[in-house]
Amino acid sequence: MKTKQENRFDSSEFAKKFHTDVPLGSFPSDQETRFALWAPTAKSVILQLYRSGNEPEVAKPYAMERGEKGVWSLCLPGNLSGVYYTYAVTVRGVTTITQDPYAKAAGLNGRRSMVIDLNTTNPKGWAEEKAPSKPSENIIYEVHVKDFSYDPNSGVEDALRGKYLGLCASGTTLNGDGIHSTCMDYLKKLGVTHLELLPVYDFGSVDEGGSDAQFNWGYDPINYNVPEGSYSTNPYDGAVRIRELKQMIQTLHANGFRVIMDVVYNHTYSVDSCLENTFPGYFYRKYDNGELSNGSGCGNDIASQRSMCARYIMDSVLYWAEEYHFDGFRFDLMGLIPVELMNQLRNALDDRFGKGEKLVFGEPWRAADTAVPENVNLADKANLKNLLNGVGAFCDATRDAIKGNVFESCARGFVNGGAFSAQELANCIRGWAKVSGEYSVNTPEQTICYLSSHDDWTLWDRLVNSVRKDKDYQTRDNAILKINRLAASILFCCQGNLFFLSGEEFGRTKYGIQNTYCAPLSVNQIDWKRAWENSDLVSYYRGLIALRKQLPAFQDKSHHAAERICTIGEPIENTAVVEMTNEGTWEHLLLFVNVGNQDHTLPLPEGNWQLLFDGEDSFRWLNPEFLSENVFLPRKSAILLGKQ
Ligand code: CA
Repeated sequence: MKTKQENRFDSSEFAKKFHTDVPLGSFPSDQETRFALWAPTAKSVILQLYRSGNEPEVAKPYAMERGEKGVWSLCLPGNLSGVYYTYAVTVRGVTTITQDPYAKAAGLNGRRSMVIDLNTTNPKGWAEEKAPSKPSENIIYEVHVKDFSYDPNSGVEDALRGKYLGLCASGTTLNGDGIHSTCMDYLKKLGVTHLELLPVYDFGSVDEGGSDAQFNWGYDPINYNVPEGSYSTNPYDGAVRIRELKQMIQTLHANGFRVIMDVVYNHTYSVDSCLENTFPGYFYRKYDNGELSNGSGCGNDIASQRSMCARYIMDSVLYWAEEYHFDGFRFDLMGLIPVELMNQLRNALDDRFGKGEKLVFGEPWRAADTAVPENVNLADKANLKNLLNGVGAFCDATRDAIKGNVFESCARGFVNGGAFSAQELANCIRGWAKVSGEYSVNTPEQTICYLSSHDDWTLWDRLVNSVRKDKDYQTRDNAILKINRLAASILFCCQGNLFFLSGEEFGRTKYGIQNTYCAPLSVNQIDWKRAWENSDLVSYYRGLIALRKQLPAFQDKSHHAAERICTIGEPIENTAVVEMTNEGTWEHLLLFVNVGNQDHTLPLPEGNWQLLFDGEDSFRWLNPEFLSENVFLPRKSAILLGKQ
């Protein structure tokens, strides 16, 4: 049987003896450059300097000195910014060459760290650069740097396609036709408020010196505090990727977007990592029999319950927020990270940048059991109520209720012929706040409402799987477009933060493939031609986004948000009507949903009701039209009305 007792690395005695808060890493100044590495079990540490980040070279060795708490350090004369380095760490007679876990820059494929004066990496205007002010609603759009602009139809110049600088290219149009905006300009018209980037830290699955045709999502960290090199125009020079990522964030900010980083502090590319090689055994979870814990499903689990590991994660998050001006963090497999650490991260970001200024949320689950001592509470669904309200969690309950269980290709939900009830719909609308169930939160501030993300089928493919027998993903299909609009209109009436995978708004297909983490670019890249072929669906999302920004009832993330629902009715099978209090232009909102296959005419409460959206058009609110007495509710559609 696999068991996990508290071992010495988990104990408070160990932390008392070896925990340190001294700065770790390499620090150049005009006079000298200081190096510091935490390696308490090492018998010797040799600093090795190189001129280049990748060329074969005999390193210049410098012995380091052991100080308090197991910190090895050394000061060398002069500003060594631009010099590459590794450490030769000897533990129990075994010497390993490793990069610095605290490296801020690195050469090709992250094998050698680089000393860097970060001031030299700042684009013009960086000191004054700021995110756009906090939006009235968080509408998060999930993008992968490479797949966003790699399509030759994107209109982005060849040298920048798939790069940091391609993601923020402006003035691009479909094949350069001068008419149909693509990439960042397209997103400005769409109206999303946040871009969430799939991993941009240095990951290991793409050879930075190899073919441009390689693709990987990047959930395989090598250097936690260094940007990925393959998205830069020159992965050989450690400064270029830093400058270009900053330039990208600066440009996105200037164009009205906040930027969220996907962080993977739950596992590394392999256990042969800088963490293991500087302090064997400390940074990874193991069972008592010596077996590595694998709750990530990726071969190893980071031991984030240990104090110096928690410090490492804290330092890393604060570094990205401070140095790169990131506006939020999405924690991959947050269910492997202690509640205590997530709450500390929330508080530290609030203290440093202002309350709620940075978003924090994650996946409240893990792939399998993990080896932690019994007294460690993990940030999973069972512990949502122990997390601060400002630590959000992806809501699988809404996702699966609307379109069917995520793991079954054909399972059905509200919109595609599955079970439906007005009460369940109301739970989704409340963002599962104060609702009893497996997913249950304190306030909708915690809820990340979504239908699709990079994981699993795209919404379009999922709808095709459950509705079309022939599994034709590519052909335009009016029935599926209608269902997609219904799904989106329900999602946009849910309290909480909204999230969707890039391309959901144009019926993005990955040709029915569930997991595309290393599928070719032909499967993964955003198809900008399809975006314009389905521009009617894009327009529907655009209208929902613009309307959402004006409706306090849905934006409310307070403890009282759930009380805005005044009535929930189910007038006829497969229909629901929900009335809510609002303020501003409309004092009351009335949502009608018909998931069935028959049209209905339903009575309206007293008053003049303005049509805000219906199943065909989400911009009805632009041209005031009023209804009274009854409403015609076509099959597979939702209608939102507002009373002044
Ligand atoms: Ca890399």
